[in-house]
Amino acid sequence: MPSDCLFCRIVAGELPSTQIYSDDAVVAIRDISPQAPTHILLLSRKHIASVGALGDEDHDLPGRIFAVGTELATREGIAEDGYRMVVNVGRNGGQTVDHLHVHMLGGRRMSWPPG
Ligand code: 5GP
Ligand code: ZN
Repeated sequence: MPSDCLFCRIVAGELPSTQIYSDDAVVAIRDISPQAPTHILLLSRKHIASVGALGDEDHDLPGRIFAVGTELATREGIAEDGYRMVVNVGRNGGQTVDHLHVHMLGGRRMSWPPG
């Protein structure tokens, strides 16, 4: 675990977060700066810098993350109206934390294309 990685430290419980789900592969927390009434971050427990760094051994992980996301969407009451799941990759993609995570946003109407 890279000791300087923010999300590794959150997953390890070294830094506080509002955790709403945890299993052996995925941890879900509320974003500290929510961009919608519901803004959840689905973190991999394992340190992987981005989706671009997923290895063959990680082939189950994206499916696990999306499955947790859809379960939480139902739990949060946003499944029926719809929501957005987003992955930012690299500088042009707007990624600011280099640890695999999927944003799940809901509770308001989203615009397209994103800025
Ligand atoms: P990215 O820009 O890499 O796609 O997303 C990183 C997200 O992490 C941002 O939405 C940002 O608000 C969130 N974030 C940054 N620092 C913290 C933190 O300490 N705790 C939580 N819960 N979220 C954070
Ligand atoms: Zn990490």
